[in-house]
Formats: sequence, structure tokens, C-alpha cells
Amino acid sequence: MTQLELARSGIVSPQVKHVAEKEGVEIDSILQGLIDGTTIIPANANHTNLIPCGIGKGLKTKVNANIGTSSDFFDIDTELMKLRAAIDSGADTVMDLSTGGDISAIRRAIIASSPLPLGTVPIYQAGIEAIENHGAIVNMTTNEIFDVIEEQARDGVDFMTVHCGVTQASVARLKNQGRITDIVSRGGAFLTGWMLHNERENPLYEHYDRLLDLARKYDFALSLGDGLRPGCLADATDRAQVEELIILGELVERAREAGIQAMVEGPGHLPLDQVTANVQLEKRLCHGAPFYVLGPLVTDIAAGYDHITGAIGGAIAAAAGADFLCYVTPAEHLSLPDVEDVKEGVIASRIAAHAGDIVKGVKGAREWDEEMSKARKALDWGTQAKLSLAPEHWRQVHNKIPAAGATCSMCGKYCAMAIVDKYLRSPVPHLTSPLKGEK
Ligand code: SF4
Repeated sequence: MTQLELARSGIVSPQVKHVAEKEGVEIDSILQGLIDGTTIIPANANHTNLIPCGIGKGLKTKVNANIGTSSDFFDIDTELMKLRAAIDSGADTVMDLSTGGDISAIRRAIIASSPLPLGTVPIYQAGIEAIENHGAIVNMTTNEIFDVIEEQARDGVDFMTVHCGVTQASVARLKNQGRITDIVSRGGAFLTGWMLHNERENPLYEHYDRLLDLARKYDFALSLGDGLRPGCLADATDRAQVEELIILGELVERAREAGIQAMVEGPGHLPLDQVTANVQLEKRLCHGAPFYVLGPLVTDIAAGYDHITGAIGGAIAAAAGADFLCYVTPAEHLSLPDVEDVKEGVIASRIAAHAGDIVKGVKGAREWDEEMSKARKALDWGTQAKLSLAPEHWRQVHNKIPAAGATCSMCGKYCAMAIVDKYLRSPVPHLTSPLKGEK
């Protein structure tokens, strides 16, 4: 049985128990979330070293880190180093988006080393193998697509991005709409090219029941991909994007009827004032399915700093109810991310997720900030380091210019915390007041 079917039968799986303990919530509320489809626990039975993670309503906003090779750079050891960096930086899940080298071997190495739920986009491998075997993606067969999906499921992939909403109808809307950046999703581009060339419907849509059968067999979750997501602010929330979302909402219902867990992917590039509306639209059209947003990036002009652009959009999205943030790295739009980019991207997204959790009222979020504030006021540097989102970086920055006393070197002996404390309450030990000329 799948996690959803187990929950419907009232059976508490070890995965549900683990997620409830980790999140500090009642087991019943996790079970109800699974039954309602507002929570998913991607947990392929073949991912034997998995530490399960819940994504959805009432839970901490989760952060995904994309790793993987490209046709220009493919090295397994580098990908394993990126995986380590993502885990150490606090990512909740990892996606292997490899498109270069031995894709199957890279994926298997990553799964073997990853306790985090692993996601993939199987159409990448299917498309690349079609080029190798038949000379072009458009020659890819339906059976080959499903063979790759089954191979990845057998390897233990916990969730798969499947661009089932790229249909003849939604592509017609796209053509009719007119866009600046057309399609920026690689999976969406592969499928659109295939559909237009072959004058056929998207196989992932046409044979959706076959996909559901595989998802049930291996219990991987569907991440219904947004192949028509906007690639720039000018294309945001247009008819093509909304048409695809309507289709994805229908597919969420069909997945739930089949006992399959599903979440929905979202933009992409959005102006700040459209972020909340996009979350509300997804929640309404997709019946509360967990929303997995890619950023969103709130401006198109900051390449090199797009981890910041994405964190701004991610914080607003999370506060509005998005459940899962796909990180953006400083390398976005410019190159394949390296290990440092992975670290920066995860930390930026975790800040966004936590900022959203404070607004959502997620258990423990606001308390964390209060503990930090108390330690800051007490000039308790050890506790501050421990409570920091990124303790290692915290220490590096704090020690860069050491303070002469108990304060930090920013204000030195003119530390506002210490001065006010001396006059308002009992003084912080070892501090003197420059206001009275004390040394
Ligand atoms: S020295 Fe300034 S920055 Fe440092 S703890 Fe005191 S008030 Fe804060």
C-alpha cells in the first residue's frame, strides 16, 4: 500500500510516526493531512537509507536543492560533494537533474548516499537516451518514457517531476498568448517539441493511468511539473500558465482517487505583487495540494545574486501558504552550480522558508527567534552560534574582526545592548559604561 492508502486504512506507518515526531505534531494530524492530500511523505520503499520528510499544510516549509550534471560537466564525485553540501547546509530534499555522463550511475550513487528524499525529472533521461539511440528527442517512444520512469522508481526515487499539464490545449494557449521567453522548463521544452513534431498528445497526459500504476507499485509521489511556467516577469500568470494549472488540478484529483500522493510545481518568475495570488490560485485549483515553488524570482535583472531574488519571492510564497521551496543558487541563469553555490542557495532558501514559517505559525518557528533575541541581548555568543541558521558561517564572520571585550567589534565599547542594560537592569558582567567615562 502507498503512504496515502495506509493513512486511509488508519495504519500509522513508520514514516508517519517519524514525521510527526520531527515536526512536533500529533500523528493524527499527519494522517489527516495525507488523507486530505494537503500533506505528502515521499518515501519510495526501495530508498532504503531514507529519513522521511513531510511536505504540506501545518508543517515546516521545506527546501529542495537541485544538483546534477550537465552535458558540459559531468563528474560523479562533484555531485556527491554537492549532495554533502546540501545535507550539511540543511536542505530537506535533493533533486538529481543530471543530463550529462552516465545518468543512471550518477542517480544510483546519489541515492546510495542520500538520506534525504530524492526527486528526479525522468523525461530528461528519456529525451537524452532518445538522442543517443534514435538521433532526436522527437523519436522518443511512449514505452521508452515509461521504461525510464520505472527504472528510476526501481532505483528508489521518492518523487518525480512529470510535466503532465503540457497538453495540446495548454500549448495552443501559449501560442495564442504570445510570450517573451516562451518555455523555460527543460522537461516542458522536450515534451512540447515532441508533441508539435509528432502531432500527438503528451504521453504523460494521455497515459496518466499508466503513470499512476507505476507510482502505486513503487510508492513514489508525483510532482506535477509546470512545464509552461513563466520564464520572466512579463510572462507571469498568463493564460498558458493558468491553463496548465487547471489541468494539474484535475490530475491531482485523479492521483488521489488512485491512492497516489501528488504535489504541484509553480513559478518561476513572478512580480512581488503576484506571488500571493499564485499561491491562492494553486491552493484553490489543486484542492490544497502541497505547492512546490521554484523561487519564485521577483526580478529578472539580478543574475549572480538570484539566490537573493529567489529568497525574497520564496519568503512571500511561504508566508502565503507555499509548502516547499526549490532553492535558487547564485549560478542561476549563468552556469552549472558548484559546491559553494549549493551552500549559498540552501541557506538563502532556508531563511525564506523560516521567515514564512513565522507568519504561518509553524510550531517552534517564532520561539527560535525569541531564543536568539534573548541570547543576543545577553551577549551570549556561544548560544547565538548554536541557534544560528548557519553556525559555521556565523563563527567565521564573528571572528573576522575580534572584539576587545564581551561585545562584538561592530560597536565595541559603545555596544547599545550593554549600555542600556547597565542603566535599565543589572549590568552585563565584565562590561563598563563609556557614558561615565569608565575604562
Ligand atoms: S556591539 Fe553593537 S552589534 Fe555588537 S552586540 Fe553590541 S549592539 Fe550589537
